[in-house]
Order: sequence, then structure tokens, then C-alpha cells
Amino acid sequence: MSATTAGGTTTELVPGVHIPRIGLGTWPLVGEDAAAAVSQAIANGYRHLDTAENYGNEEAVGEGIRRSGIDRGHLFLTTKFNTRWHGRTGVRQAFAEATRRLGTDYLDLFLVHWPNPAQGRFVEACEGLQQLMDEGCIRSWGVSNFKPCHLQQVQDAGLRVPLNQVQVDPEHGQPAQLAYHAGQGMVTAAYSPLGRNGHFLSNPAITGPALDLGKTPAQIVLRWHVQHGRVAIPKSADHRRQRENLDVFSFALTQPQLEAIDALETGAPPRLDSDTYFH
Ligand code: NDP
Repeated sequence: MSATTAGGTTTELVPGVHIPRIGLGTWPLVGEDAAAAVSQAIANGYRHLDTAENYGNEEAVGEGIRRSGIDRGHLFLTTKFNTRWHGRTGVRQAFAEATRRLGTDYLDLFLVHWPNPAQGRFVEACEGLQQLMDEGCIRSWGVSNFKPCHLQQVQDAGLRVPLNQVQVDPEHGQPAQLAYHAGQGMVTAAYSPLGRNGHFLSNPAITGPALDLGKTPAQIVLRWHVQHGRVAIPKSADHRRQRENLDVFSFALTQPQLEAIDALETGAPPRLDSDTYFH
């Protein structure tokens, strides 16, 4: 499959840097649970891992990577930093701390975790990230939980934001947010892509195609994300569910099936409001 085609296994973030469409979410795993889930996921074929300073598991994720024996160059590693580091110098310190905890010397993707608009330094944080990328410390950068008004301020400073990681599931489709991303050519990464094992997994719009295609409801939802061109980072510590969540590239949903899932949209906002919530 072509790298950039909707439905392909990877998508291009910045020239020459491709992010796998399915990654392993690692919150709320910590300690040995996180290390074991990560090494098991890599053995199960995962090549994209998502962690954050705030999850308190970067050391454990690093341990899982080492335990797996995989060559670092074969992995796509994302982490995120807290708002206390916003500012050009702070971002550099955040990078030094994150790479130390993870036991790596570079990151594939480094994200501003929350904008914290009251603090008012997220544009500087993005400038610091662009500088780290220009210097080759990180392969790409992005943001998380940024609303269009926050993104616009970054774009107005002359920066192109490659990716925004936001909460998306069939009931939280955030149409205006995702339309803004599409208009800017920005990749959307969906967090909580299964709605934390949401009750919509038993909706006939999802169980119907699951029965027809011989797939599980979670696979149908992840395939829906992928066919809409998104990256998704489902969390599972379970061997069978990890394999299931990665196995979404050998079948396709029809247009009516996609539209029936789109119709589950409730218009509900994400569970946390990034104008006021941050860490
Ligand atoms: P998910 O939608 O990934 O749901 C995870 C839950 O679903 C777990 O209880 C898991 O249980 C269960 N599950 C996983 N696979 C299946 C399956 N195939 N069938 C049935 N149940 C399944 O929610 P998360 O909130 O964990 O989001 C995923 C990741 O997104 C996080 O781990 C984190 O990395 C990131 N995130 C980012 C945020 C941000 O601010 N940027 C905020 C929140 C999350 P089990 O482990 O037992 O399989």
C-alpha cells in the first residue's frame, strides 16, 4: 500500500518521516506493567509507541524497548512534555530529560501535551520544537489538545504544525476540529480511539460490519479511523487485543458502513477542555 494513501499503514508527517497509522497507547500503564506491555507489543509487530512525561512511564517504556531487542531505528517513538517547559529553552531541557528517561538519543515525534493558553507560551514551545527538528534532535514535532484557535496562533507565527493528537471516537468526531486539520494538511492522531472500551462498540453500526467481515468491533472502529486518514493509538496490555488492534489493514469498510459509523457522532466535546485543563 502506498505510504500516504488513506488506509495505508503509514502516513507522511514531514518530508521523509512516516508515522505508522496504529501505535500503542501506554497510559495508564506504569512500571513493570508498562515495560512488559511494550516489549510484548513490539514482539506482536508494533513499531509505534506513544508515551508522555505526565504518564510517569517513560523509563518503563524505554526498558520495554531494550527488552524487546529491537533496533531503535525500526521504531517510531512519540512522547509529550508538560506546560512548565513551554518556551524555547524549556523545550530543550524537556528533550534532554525525556531522552534520558527513555534511554534514547533522539525522538521521532515530540508533542506539546496541552496548550495552557493562560500561561501564553505555547507558540514559543512550538518554535523551540521546530528548532530541535532543524538541528536533527527530533525527526518531527506536533501538538496535542490544541483547538483551532490555538493552532491558528502557531500558524500565524509562520510555523506549519505537522500533527495534532486529539480525542476522537465514533461519538466524539469533533467535525469542526478535524475539518480545520484537513484544511491545514495536518495529520490527526486519535487518542482514546476506542472510547476507552466505549459502549458504542456494541452499536449495530459497528457490530454489523464486524459480523459481516469476521472482525471484532474494536477492529471495525480502528479501521474507520484509518480509512478517514487518521493515526490511532489504542492502549492494550493484553496479548490478543494488541494483535487484534494492529490487524486492521487487510480489509476495508464500504462507504455506507463508514457513513453509518459517522452517524454515531453526538456533538459532545472532548472530556477535558484544553482552554482550562493542562499539566
Ligand atoms: P482507548 O480508547 O485506547 O481504550 C483503552 C481501553 O480499551 C483499555 O481498557 C483496553 O483494555 C481496552 N481495549 C483495548 N483494545 C481493545 C479491544 N480490541 N477490545 C476491547 N477493549 C479493548 O483509550 P485511552 O484513553 O487509553 O487512549 C489510548 C492512548 O491515547 C493512551 O494510552 C495514551 O497513550 C493516549 N492518550 C493521550 C492523551 C492526550 O492528552 N494526548 C489523553 C488520553 C490518552 P486492555 O488493556 O485490557 O486491552
